[in-house]
Amino acid sequence: MTYRTILILLLTAAAAALIAASVTGESDQGNTRKQTAAVGPQKDTSMKPIGEYLKDVYTAGMPKVVKSEAEWRAILPPETYAITREAGTERAFCGAFYDHKKEGVYLCVCCELPLFASNAKFDSGTGWPSFFQPLRKDHVSEKTDLSYGMRRIEINCARCDSHLGHVFDDGPRPTGLRYCLNSESLTFVPGSIPATF
Ligand SMILES: [Zn+2]
Repeated sequence: MTYRTILILLLTAAAAALIAASVTGESDQGNTRKQTAAVGPQKDTSMKPIGEYLKDVYTAGMPKVVKSEAEWRAILPPETYAITREAGTERAFCGAFYDHKKEGVYLCVCCELPLFASNAKFDSGTGWPSFFQPLRKDHVSEKTDLSYGMRRIEINCARCDSHLGHVFDDGPRPTGLRYCLNSESLTFVPGSIPATF
């Protein structure tokens, strides 16, 4: 074996090692991607079925959820806190639910009280999620809001007083009402809506 042959063999072995390392690296990256992708479905299945949220209300009644400003700040993201606890308004056409059409129930993001169902949702063209009625009237409280030189009816979660949005009387049939919500005030549970509630 000549010196030149040995050199070629060594270079070939080095190239093979480099290719193997490269392939292994890609394989590892693939595994990482798979692990990351699995987080989504795991998070989804942590939501309880719709019936469980409704059962909680039936069995426990609806005692008020009361937390201090500091406690809400500790558990809510800043933008959610600003809207739900300080009566803020998200920008139109920017929320997660204004164009959301899946079947299911929308809960209060602060206390998970079921508030609105997808079968009462309609496209108001306003850029905010809109409903013609709440799931149950006693789950949404109302009060007069005179801010910004207007007279409006503010709507709140009846259990934790979270700010939801406003209700107007220019909605569609059968109620003629338009409950105008902030997406930030809601969380969504997909599934069939119970016939009675
Ligand atoms: Zn609430």
